[in-house]
Amino acid sequence: MTATLLDGKAVALAIRNELTTRVATVQERLGRPPALAIVLVGDDPASEVYVRNKLKTAEDAGMGVHLERLPGSAPLAAVLAVVDRFNKDANYDGILVQSPLPKSLGAEAEQRVFDAIDPGKDVDGFSPISAGRVLQDREGFAPCTPAGVIELLVRTKTPIEGKHAVVIGRSDIVGKPMAALLLHKNATVTICHSRTRDLPAMARTADILVAAIGRPAFVTREFVKPGAVVIDVGINSVTKAEDAQRIFAAFPERLQVFNKKGSVLVGDVHPEVAATAGALTPVPGGVGPLTIAMLMANTVRAAELRIR
Ligand code: NAP
Repeated sequence: MTATLLDGKAVALAIRNELTTRVATVQERLGRPPALAIVLVGDDPASEVYVRNKLKTAEDAGMGVHLERLPGSAPLAAVLAVVDRFNKDANYDGILVQSPLPKSLGAEAEQRVFDAIDPGKDVDGFSPISAGRVLQDREGFAPCTPAGVIELLVRTKTPIEGKHAVVIGRSDIVGKPMAALLLHKNATVTICHSRTRDLPAMARTADILVAAIGRPAFVTREFVKPGAVVIDVGINSVTKAEDAQRIFAAFPERLQVFNKKGSVLVGDVHPEVAATAGALTPVPGGVGPLTIAMLMANTVRAAELRIR
């Protein structure tokens, strides 16, 4: 079997195209387009790339976007003050504080910052109010990555109801909300994590397998029931030649990317899984573009909710 590729890029483009008329309506009603404030603390290289993509996508969609930068040495109080300012600023509908925050801010900094974001502007869906609303299947903002996965499954007409979904990973931003959203679509859901016993056997019971682990090519063929739908949330950069050789031995075109750039992206799912799964999201071009599209959709909705 060769898995059908679930084209996240195409679905993301469709979502973004659908926003065009809604952006115009907000512009008409508010006298400005939906607007997002992004707060970036420090200079983490991966965060710089993610933020650049978000800025460009928002600009391309005709939305307002502002980047507020703080130095990595900024105290937590300064970050909270910026959030408070955007909470009160009627020119912004959504606020996103780029994660991860610098370690120097302390272990609880992210929680403190997400707690401080006005739930009506929490377009990343990371605040406890948003998490509670997701769990109760109420109107609110679901975290963009799991929300994007649901859009992908729905728009590619992948059946969810009655299926057994196994989610590997239980983070607050991906695993837990993913499980809740699949449950609301009437899947029977199992959540796995680092203490799960015989993970491959558990994963093999899945009709829909979601990998959100953060370990390159961790999910191999033995994790996958033939024909299963496999969603690869992971984004990992392989930078060591021996790792690239090991993972991509049978995929010369990916090795070529490594040889050219000195690094190559791989998900949490091993590329060999394409021979066993019925459908699979590629990395790159799968879940990543959907995450940004859903951020735009959440921001437009935040603006619409202000008008209502
Ligand atoms: P995270 O907070 O580090 O959580 C990872 C989860 O994986 C944890 O629940 C952990 O279990 C579990 N895990 C780790 N090692 C495991 C093992 N050996 N066996 C079973 N479970 C294991 O990561 P995250 O924020 O959820 O992100 C997960 C991945 O998605 C990362 O690669 C990240 O880069 C990617 N991501 C992609 C997007 C996107 O737009 N595509 C967005 C967000 C994240 P414990 O809880 O037991 O420790």
